[in-house]
Amino acid sequence: MKSTSDTTVICDGSGYKVQLGSAVNLQWQAMGCAEKHERAHIADLMEICPEGCTDKEKGTPHPTGDDPRGCPPFEDKGTYAQWRATTECHGYSVEEECLVEQFKSADAQGKVAIRNRLNKHVRRSLKYWKC
Ligand SMILES: [Zn+2]
Repeated sequence: MKSTSDTTVICDGSGYKVQLGSAVNLQWQAMGCAEKHERAHIADLMEICPEGCTDKEKGTPHPTGDDPRGCPPFEDKGTYAQWRATTECHGYSVEEECLVEQFKSADAQGKVAIRNRLNKHVRRSLKYWKC
């Protein structure tokens, strides 16, 4: 089950929406890049499962392999796992590119925060998902 501190995609009653969760505590540029990561997932979900949030209550998590909701790729956990790896690579690539770009105009404190986010989270995740 998703918690409100998770940075993820939820249904907002009419469609997919970003839930920033604990990402609100990030330095502001890093937070913006985390939001872009989630928007990449929404783009992927819209492609594969445009109706995945139709008529779902506000706050409902988006469809996953543990909770298939009629989106063909999610009827099988193996297929979901593959899709998940692909969409995480998309999300983290977008986030990395965003952070590298934001780094250029950040002040000294911002550069430290952005470098930390890149090295301690984003690049490790790119490795984890074998991107
Ligand atoms: Zn992600």
